[in-house]
Amino acid sequence: MIPMLDLKKEFLDIEEEVISTVIEVLKGTKYVLGPHVEAFEKQLAQYHGLSYGAGVGSGTGALFLSLASLPISKGDEIITTPFTFFATVESILYVGAKPVFVDIDTKTLNIDIGLIEQKITKKTKAILPVHLFGLPCDMKRIMELAKKYNLYVVEDCAQSFGSLINGRLTGTFGDAGCFSFYPSKNLGCYGDGGAVVTNNQQMYENILALRNHGSRGNYIHSVIGFNSRLDEIQAAILSIKLNKVERNNAMRRKSAALYTSLLSSTVMCPNIPEGYTSNYHQYTIRSAHRDKIKEALHKANISSVVYYPVPMHLQKPIEQFGFKKGDFPVAETAAAQVLSLPVYPGLSNEDIERIAEVIKKCL
Ligand SMILES: *Cc1c(COP(=O)(O)O)cnc(C)c1O
Repeated sequence: MIPMLDLKKEFLDIEEEVISTVIEVLKGTKYVLGPHVEAFEKQLAQYHGLSYGAGVGSGTGALFLSLASLPISKGDEIITTPFTFFATVESILYVGAKPVFVDIDTKTLNIDIGLIEQKITKKTKAILPVHLFGLPCDMKRIMELAKKYNLYVVEDCAQSFGSLINGRLTGTFGDAGCFSFYPSKNLGCYGDGGAVVTNNQQMYENILALRNHGSRGNYIHSVIGFNSRLDEIQAAILSIKLNKVERNNAMRRKSAALYTSLLSSTVMCPNIPEGYTSNYHQYTIRSAHRDKIKEALHKANISSVVYYPVPMHLQKPIEQFGFKKGDFPVAETAAAQVLSLPVYPGLSNEDIERIAEVIKKCL
């Protein structure tokens, strides 16, 4: 059996360090928003070359609190992609804004930059680009548009930890970069966690209050906030794992290169533009024979997953906005053709060769 992801290998590699750190946290008896969270926030901000990092309860919390920290209110519009994980859109709905979808680029599967400008209205307040599967969006052109129309940019980096454009990390282009540390992400903890990185002091301070019931911990409440906090055990583990993430991402890139060399004449492989570096959160192929490939892999005991089978505009809770099939044809075709293959640090070349063999044989 070849799984999508093998977290056990990774854990065994850092077992001693993790166990002793967890015991230290448990003995310290400070369990939520304490010194380990502060240390990790500093480390994370420094890694990104930014002034501030704020640990929160999840990636969804990072997105939602970032939007809530900005002057965005009911009826405002936020531009995003229809081809993403649902949490991206949930965060927009949580602040009462309207998601305005822009179809994706067929090569990158990210928001089609050329289609954004025609969707900007007087009500548009922000752009929420998603670096899907680890491939960065064209942030240069997104920031140009944001400047021209005076829009905020909140980057959904849940899948792009360590991804770069010409040496610059995702999360450092917009007003804020939002990360998820859900266990399966490239930097994952052993539960739920998330963080926002930013250079914007006002956003940072708003988020510190919003994550903790609208208070900085002194029982004086400046706004109605939420409970979206990072805990000490997760933060301490993240500090350990942050030191390994570049090595792990490099291993994923090696696996991806081997996949592409074996599969590029059979299926559509990830297309990485010049100057872009993906962290390969997913290695996602495209084929008109997707279901046949999935079935053949399943029979050979190889996992594969369709991320994502239904684009956001066709999801039930989005019905209220009146979208219909055909509104975003590129995203709809992608949803019918994509298939993500196993990729994780420690996946062997032999396994990749076997997976490629099964795919080639079935077509
Ligand atoms: C995982 C993910 C999120 C949400 O992160 P959680 O930590 O699960 O809340 C948001 N956006 C994208 C693109 C994701 O992949």
